[in-house]
Amino acid sequence: MVLATGNRGKLAEIMEIVRPMGIEVVPQSEFAVPEIEESGLSFVENAILKARNAARHSGLPALADDSGLEVDALNGAPGIYSARYAGDERDDQANNRLLLSRLAGIPDENRTARFQCVVVLLRHPDDPVPLICHADWEGRIVDQPRGENGFGYDPLFAVAGMRCTSAELSAEEKNRIGHRGRALAMLARQLPAWMAR
Ligand code: IMP
Repeated sequence: MVLATGNRGKLAEIMEIVRPMGIEVVPQSEFAVPEIEESGLSFVENAILKARNAARHSGLPALADDSGLEVDALNGAPGIYSARYAGDERDDQANNRLLLSRLAGIPDENRTARFQCVVVLLRHPDDPVPLICHADWEGRIVDQPRGENGFGYDPLFAVAGMRCTSAELSAEEKNRIGHRGRALAMLARQLPAWMAR
């Protein structure tokens, strides 16, 4: 299947997670799939738009992930706009700086947040019954970046119940407990029944 993302952080994680599932995944860059506008108002809509676009241009079944960070003190922002929070350049460091500035002065107990991840699999661009799985991951936004692993908001996301940010987890640990890894594990469990339909 083709993987509908150009985000290098996501690409690395998804490849790592699906490899042991025996699924061959090819990034959409290999098919020169053009980017589409993420014009939906929900993670589900945007994941479907991306998967449909990749399936159309590659002729293969397509897997897409739409994800983001929801911060309670910001009424759920940046949410579906997480990648472009600080502008169209999708600059992780600028996004993190903006998030910290918006949360300045907000005490620790009010900095609750969660990552959301929706993964969608389409057999072909017009598939009327996509496989859709969702997982979230609870945490809190710290006031200084910590850790070198992962991507995006990972250095600011203190994992609930642990003493580290998601950027301080190993790739294996993040994939095991994180939003993307659990959404994809769910998808893998449902895959045989879905393919048989
Ligand atoms: P998308 O490509 O529109 O789905 O954007 C997802 C954005 O959400 C990323 O660019 C990150 O800013 C953020 N995000 C999603 N998942 C993660 C994660 O696992 N770690 C850190 N940031 C994430």
